[in-house]
Amino acid sequence: MVQEFKVLIGGEWVDSATGRTMQVINPANGDVVGKVPKCSSADLDRAVEAAKKAAPGWASKTMAERSKVLLKLSQVIMAHHEELAKLETMEHGSPIRKTMNFDVPLCAEQFEYFAGVARSMTGETLPVGPWCSSITVKEPLGVVGLITPWNFPALMVVWKLGAAMVTGNTCVVKPPSIAPLTTLKLGELAMEAGAPPGVVNVITGPGEDVGEALVQHPDVAKIGFTGDTATGKRIMNLASNSVKSLGLELGGKNAFVVMPDADVDAAVEGAVWSAFFNSGQVCAAASRFYVHESLYEEFVDKMVAMAKTLRYGDPMKMETVIGPVAYAAHRDKIEWYIDGAKKAGAKLLLGGERPDTEETRNGFFVAPTIFGNCANTMEFMQEEIFGPVAGIAPFKTQEEAVALANDTRYGLSASIWTRDLRNGMAMAGQIKAGTVWLNEHLIVFCETPWGGCKQSGWGKDLSTMVLEEYTMTKHIYIDLTGQPVKPWYGLLK
Ligand code: NDP
Repeated sequence: MVQEFKVLIGGEWVDSATGRTMQVINPANGDVVGKVPKCSSADLDRAVEAAKKAAPGWASKTMAERSKVLLKLSQVIMAHHEELAKLETMEHGSPIRKTMNFDVPLCAEQFEYFAGVARSMTGETLPVGPWCSSITVKEPLGVVGLITPWNFPALMVVWKLGAAMVTGNTCVVKPPSIAPLTTLKLGELAMEAGAPPGVVNVITGPGEDVGEALVQHPDVAKIGFTGDTATGKRIMNLASNSVKSLGLELGGKNAFVVMPDADVDAAVEGAVWSAFFNSGQVCAAASRFYVHESLYEEFVDKMVAMAKTLRYGDPMKMETVIGPVAYAAHRDKIEWYIDGAKKAGAKLLLGGERPDTEETRNGFFVAPTIFGNCANTMEFMQEEIFGPVAGIAPFKTQEEAVALANDTRYGLSASIWTRDLRNGMAMAGQIKAGTVWLNEHLIVFCETPWGGCKQSGWGKDLSTMVLEEYTMTKHIYIDLTGQPVKPWYGLLK
């Protein structure tokens, strides 16, 4: 049955002004599972107006009051654990094993974290002189626009929403058109947890329409964006007219470096995890593997053997670990890169085709795919594929490994696998990326900052650093001299 959804504006559930809708498709079988309003800039204006109206009231609440709403939201999310997990699996294809055990609990934990950590935010007292007082205070920005991607439809919005809400901003959220349902549900749960009307508004519609209208809206102080680098560039251009603050979490092409002294079995476990988790639809997924020539054959054989065992199929089954990719055109794009890799001379070691079983036939599946003998000059070793495709290349020296890892326009993350942590630290310092893991890949915590450099964007999500992203630091100066004429006025006299 196709469920009809509405958008959330100022605490009301409404249709788009035109009454037009968009379909949401289950990528596991191609079924239409929902219809959401296809909003346009007129709807967006209403959402910004509602957020603007709610802003003074929300900003004037104490941090403790706002934290309580987030804590309650964390509990409400867990009360709807299974429902949210099923919704995300249905709209995105992510296995229920993952959405139940990873996405939903992490969303709840994230709100809990922000509820706690924001209460110890402080300003500063600056040592400028005994005859004055100079202090800084952190103020909310006002209305913020949050534009999120489809690869972790719930978690990506929660990362931003928690930080933006707790610091006193009101939000207009534009979820991905491919998978907007969990975000709409989170809007409902935020209201249930006590967020006043207008604090969280969720508006669905095409990025090039409502997304661009949000970026250009003069009453929106900041855009928190996660998505493709090309979209990020477009947003930078559009935001320049209103000199809007931006947070850009963009693409990645992440290196996985296996040094000659690495624990090969641990590296193989990490490689399979980081290449194929969420079908490789992870900004930080490892997709370029550089393995020292002394371990190359062993690593390749073991990685292929392990990847062969991954169970793909119906994502609603708890035993499935690999679901479909998110939509048909995305599957086609991944297949195009696979074809390109074959033509470029990379050696296909695993996968490379559509799985053809009863459970996968009607969905948008790509089998876990591994190429060997890859070169950095091959297009698929440079472009973000965002699918379950790994390319492996041997290297001879550490200098070469670092150069290969840095040979990318992206700078999101990388990992180094070695028993020599002192040398690993030195290499971490040489790799240009927002995160470098030693003997791990693809792990983030609420407490650790997340964000890239180069064309992976700027700004941080997570950790206390994101609180800075959603506040303005104001300097307040108080004259305590008691003198009507200050010595420096002499410069004008
Ligand atoms: P897109 O950039 O295509 O879309 C992201 C969001 O932007 C969607 O809500 C989309 O709306 C909207 N959008 C699209 N065009 C515009 C526009 N012109 N103006 C304003 N908004 C727009 O990315 P994907 O959803 O395909 O997500 C995958 C990308 O996200 C990958 O590159 C991945 O690396 C990156 N990502 C980065 C992360 C990080 O932390 N660095 C984390 C997760 C993902 P609509 O859906 O309607 O098109």
